[in-house]
Amino acid sequence: MNNDISGIDLTHLTFDDLRRIFASDDRGLLEEMAHAARDLTRRQFGRTISLYAPLYIANYCQNECVYCGFHASSGVIPRSKLTLEQIDRECAALAATGIRSVLILTGESRFHSSPQYIRDAAIAASRHFPYIAIEVYPLEEEEYGELYRAGVDGVTLYQETYDRARYDELHLSGPKKVYDYRVEAPDRVARAGVRHISLGVLLGLTDWHQDIMALFKHVRTLERRYPGVEFGLAFPRIRRVADDVHNYLEVSDKDMLKIMTAARLFFPRAGISISTREMPEFRDRIIEFGVTKMSAGSSTRVGGYVDAATEYHDGQFQVFDPRSFDEVKAMLISKGFDPVVTDWRNIVNS
Ligand code: SF4
Repeated sequence: MNNDISGIDLTHLTFDDLRRIFASDDRGLLEEMAHAARDLTRRQFGRTISLYAPLYIANYCQNECVYCGFHASSGVIPRSKLTLEQIDRECAALAATGIRSVLILTGESRFHSSPQYIRDAAIAASRHFPYIAIEVYPLEEEEYGELYRAGVDGVTLYQETYDRARYDELHLSGPKKVYDYRVEAPDRVARAGVRHISLGVLLGLTDWHQDIMALFKHVRTLERRYPGVEFGLAFPRIRRVADDVHNYLEVSDKDMLKIMTAARLFFPRAGISISTREMPEFRDRIIEFGVTKMSAGSSTRVGGYVDAATEYHDGQFQVFDPRSFDEVKAMLISKGFDPVVTDWRNIVNS
């Protein structure tokens, strides 16, 4: 550990400061960062936390990511894809819980979940939700444009890791193996006119210090290139799946606090969300220090809101916070937060 943290101004962090902060185990500094991140978040966002829910409309996948039990050749889960009628019913069931902001997910198969299918799903969802984001495989700029005009407000896309060699080692085959096509996707999203883009890494695939620095550099570059776009950040931690022998690196709760608070201080206006892969106790604690967005009442099953059967128990998709939308709302209110279900809406995406 290098504890040289002299001269760091938390209100004007540089990349060099971040490098020193990440290399330090100074407890006083972490406490100072936590206070500063909490105060800054209150100034920028008040006590609001936006709530959303994921909506899986398909789970086919063409990729072989070694850390995911749902990879293409895995027989662990039944694959399925909702029809437009089923999507409509799923949306109605989810909207009835009070959720107004939805994240549509398809798994990563262009063959099974074509851009046209995603577009039709977005149009169906727009009848139920004022805010729609998608988390799908990387697309072409024109395709993002089509989705934007169909009502998609936000795109989430995780690079998983910025370490090219490690990326190559962990993504055995499938379209996802092409690092550059994925890392360049946020540019295509922004050029297509989409105004909300969320990025992240899967913490633990490699040394988090390097991945977080690379993520922050990527986001800072994009911010400068596309000043009209709002960027969001998420920091899911890897959960090991059965038979996976790859070495992952631990990311402790203390590391998470450092990452979250550094993200808030470095990107004062960025939305920061906390994953349902985290346990409820951790989510409830960390929301004080920079988080602005969390999912609630989540199902990661295709059709899971109409048919509330058993959830998956594979680490990468397992929901570790099973609380309903109302329970999460009640928790937030009890802690003095103001849960927000929809804070804005484009009049028209054109
Ligand atoms: S992480 Fe996503 S793309 Fe990779 S195998 Fe799992 S479902 Fe497929």
